Amino acid sequence: MSNRALVTGGVGFVGSHLCDALLGEGYSVIAADNLLTGRLSNVEHLRNDSRFEFQEIDVSEPFDCGAVDYVFHFASPASPVDYSAHGIPTLKVGSLGTFHSLDVARKYGAGFLLASTSECYGDPLEHPQKETYWGHVNPIGPRSVYDEAKRFAEAATMAYLRYHNVNTHIVRIFNTYGPRMQVNDGRVIPNFMRQAMLGEGLTIYGDGSQTRSFCYVSDEVDGIVRLSKSDEHEPVNIGNPNEFTIVECAQRVLAVTGSKSRLRYEPLPQDDPKQRRPDISKARRLLGWEPKIDLETGLRMSLEYFRQAVAAEASSRA
Ligand code: UDP
Repeated sequence: MSNRALVTGGVGFVGSHLCDALLGEGYSVIAADNLLTGRLSNVEHLRNDSRFEFQEIDVSEPFDCGAVDYVFHFASPASPVDYSAHGIPTLKVGSLGTFHSLDVARKYGAGFLLASTSECYGDPLEHPQKETYWGHVNPIGPRSVYDEAKRFAEAATMAYLRYHNVNTHIVRIFNTYGPRMQVNDGRVIPNFMRQAMLGEGLTIYGDGSQTRSFCYVSDEVDGIVRLSKSDEHEPVNIGNPNEFTIVECAQRVLAVTGSKSRLRYEPLPQDDPKQRRPDISKARRLLGWEPKIDLETGLRMSLEYFRQAVAAEASSRA
């Protein structure tokens, strides 16, 4: 019998890539999702794999999917547009959903890995961000439904380690991109890819000098799987430290798509972090992990997916 893994949020963007990787590691996998922002099309290719199973579960309610060896808790809206649209479900899945997922791990003596986020650092005053930085978060601003839910989820995870001896791990995921991102989830790379392909202006919020550091999804998932096998219980940053301004990111997308789109400036959303770059020395040291795919290569590897997704969106509107 192979080990059984539960992935909450298992049909979301990163969650579905994680399911693929875990199947590759020899696990049988249950993907649990309430389909609020996740999509079954992300696991369509696994439909005939007898080691894969989808269960429609809202983990913000108590649940039990049977004995498992590992729980990967990835359920949550994750793009600013999605978590703003679903603020209260985002708070619930980060709080109640984390407790329920931890309870499953505790009940079955399973390992547990929480998908946390660079948003725990808020609009950071320390740069690049090390895991030891406590962050600079507005607890009542529009992003707080996500940031505070994930900070609470980290606290709950550490409490189950301390009080219940669950074998827990916490990954802080930085901006990740690649195939299976929704073209309309509002994040910068899908927005720019879509706008470039349609010949529309690329929407730069603010003056575009704010920075992000973009990690290709296969690198991200590789780091997560390594962390799941490690003895580290405190948070570990997994992200690509190559930092770009948003204008530079737009230029990369224009170059890779060959688009003639112009830049269109729009207001900066409230509390938008000005800079973000992971310090990954801890992941390098503990996991021997390092991202391999640079932004231009990753954008090229994503082109075909975005072409098809943009075409599918256009034909569903017609
Ligand atoms: N952004 C932008 N244009 C867009 C979408 C996003 O300029 O069409 C900016 C956004 O203001 C932020 C950065 O790109 O500074 C990354 O935004 P995203 O929503 O991808 O994720 P975040 O890192 O803010 O969670």
